[in-house]
This record gives sequence, C-alpha cells and structure tokens, in this order.
Amino acid sequence: MPLAFIADPDCRLHEMGTAHPESPRRLAAIEDFVIVARLEMAIRRYEAPLATREQLERVHADDYVDAVFSVAPKRRLVWLDPDAAMGPHTLAAALRAAGAAVGAVDLVLGQEASAAFCCIRPPGHHAERRRAMGFCFFNNVAVGAAHALDVHGLERVAVADFDVHHGNGTEDIFRQEPRLLFCSTFQHPRYPFEGAGTDSPRIVNVPLAAGTTGGARISGGGAAQLAAGPGDLSARARAGIGRLRRPRGGRPCPARPDRVGLRMGHRAPAGGGRAPRRGPAGLRSGRRLRAWGAGTQRGRTPQGHVGVRA
Ligand SMILES: [Zn+2]
Repeated sequence: MPLAFIADPDCRLHEMGTAHPESPRRLAAIEDFVIVARLEMAIRRYEAPLATREQLERVHADDYVDAVFSVAPKRRLVWLDPDAAMGPHTLAAALRAAGAAVGAVDLVLGQEASAAFCCIRPPGHHAERRRAMGFCFFNNVAVGAAHALDVHGLERVAVADFDVHHGNGTEDIFRQEPRLLFCSTFQHPRYPFEGAGTDSPRIVNVPLAAGTTGGARISGGGAAQLAAGPGDLSARARAGIGRLRRPRGGRPCPARPDRVGLRMGHRAPAGGGRAPRRGPAGLRSGRRLRAWGAGTQRGRTPQGHVGVRA
C-alpha cells in the first residue's frame, strides 16, 4: 500500500502577515523535499477534506467553534491570540487541516494506505478545547484521534508529539479521556510554559533542557537509561519516559495502542537547543512540521504514520 500524502491549496492561502513565522513557505519546503528526495513514486496524493462541525465539536466546545466561524473576516486580520490571526483564507485552511487528519484516519483504517502524511497548516497542538493559541485554531491531531475513537471504534489511541513546545492543547482536550495516551517531548522552560507539572498516568510529558540532543534510549528491565548528548536528561524527563514502561496505579495507561497519531513540531532555533532533525517518516524538519499519523495493525505495536505540515 502507498503512503498517502494529504495536502490542499487552501492551506497555502492562510497568511498572518509577511513577518509572521508561521508561513506558507513551510509547506513549500516539504513539497520541495518530496521532489529532491524522489519520494513522488512512493506516495499517493489526496486533497484534504473539510472538517465538519460534528468532527470539530468532538474536541472543541461548540461555542468556541461558533466563535471561530463568526469572527472569520472577509478582509484584514482578526487576532484571536497574540500569535494567532484569522485572515480571509484562515477558516478554510483550518477546516482543511483538521479534515486532513480525519481523512488520514479513514485512509489508514480503510486499508487504502499504509500510512498518511498531512502536509497542512495552520498547526493545531496549542489549540485548547475552547481557546485558539500559538498559531493554532483547531487541534488537528485531536480531531483525527477523536474520529478514530468515536467513529472507527478504536479502543486505544496514542498521540506522540515531538516539538520544541509542549502540546498543551492536546493535553487539555484529552486530560480526561481514558482511551488516549498522550506523549509530548518539549524544551523546558519555553512557551507555553506548561506540561512540566502534569501528573497523569495517561499523559507522559518529557521536558528537555535546551541543548539536549538525540540518542535517548530506553533499555530493558523497565529502567529508562538515557544517553542524551551534552548533559543528562532531567529526573522528570526520565520519570516520564520510564512511565511508558511502568504504568502507575491500578489502571494501566493505554499502552500498545491500536493506532498512533504523530505530530511533528517546531524545531528549536539554532543555538537554543535542537529538536530532532529527522521525523520518523524520514523527512527532514527544516522548519516546522505538524504530523498526524496512524499505525496499521490493530492490537499490535503501531508502525508509524503520519500527516504533516511544515
Ligand atoms: Zn508549537
């Protein structure tokens, strides 16, 4: 089966000003990489569907969704957050981005694709149940995960979020959801300055010091042993990773998920610590990636797989 590559022209039209770091050029960078790496033969392209109100309202409050629709401007920018502005094309782009995650789930669970990669923007992981935040309006990976749980009837879904920022929005949405395991690695302290204090068996946060490099590994025997470049990972980071192997309390965290949603995020700026250079799909995260992924075989260790945007 091919890798589904889900994109849509609407996602390139969303603009928050020429100086804003969340730029359509990110999608162009991914498309360029597909050409340079000669991946075209390995993918099958799909247009992103529009997310429906029902799909959005599984993870967002209906009055919040109403507000996003009602403030969407015909011209100029309307700021919903110091970092998130809606322009004339933003609503369509946001609906495509969330819809891409739903489409990715349908393609993988429908056995039409081994994996799906969403080349989309705006991103989603900072968007909370009732708040736009940090370039994000709808939480794309959450919309896809909720679709997998509620429509496809999966019993366990995991969302793995690696990004220089904590995925506060996804945590906010799924804090009380027993079927979902949320794992987030992020630089700490750094925006949004959340996640380091979370205490939940289903939320595994791994705050990393600036300058932490790759190479962390978990050895056998249940102990997390880490080789983390310059300096060690913090005790809190070790505890977070170790908890994946040793769930606490009587209710195990939903390990061995049916599917994995994966979002690839913001690489730390040079000199400020580095996020991974390569995502698990092998794509170089030159600037900013967002991913939704779903594995393949129910009840077995998931095999990856993604929707992304730069
Ligand atoms: Zn972020």
